[in-house]
Amino acid sequence: MYKIHECDFLPAGGISIVFSDSIIDSDKAIWSLLIEREATEEELEDNHYLENVGDTIWQTVLEIYNCPFCGQTLSSERAKNAAGNFAHIDSSGWDSKRL
Ligand SMILES: [Zn+2]
Repeated sequence: MYKIHECDFLPAGGISIVFSDSIIDSDKAIWSLLIEREATEEELEDNHYLENVGDTIWQTVLEIYNCPFCGQTLSSERAKNAAGNFAHIDSSGWDSKRL
């Protein structure tokens, strides 16, 4: 299950809003704000684990109910203190590490 919130107000580069059950360990699919850092040419030279410009170096994901940019409600299952699951995934080494 993977959906993307198409948003006119999304900042350019590195930020997306996705609906998935596999990014944050969760029983069900949830909406989350995904912040991604992609490798530049320079970083490729410094880090031999990265192969291509645009490879993900790290990702931070946070469960959300609304789009923080346009304000659209994404999940109707809003409950007090229930959201806020988050994860940080470091892909700069040989293995992706979930921190
Ligand atoms: Zn939006």
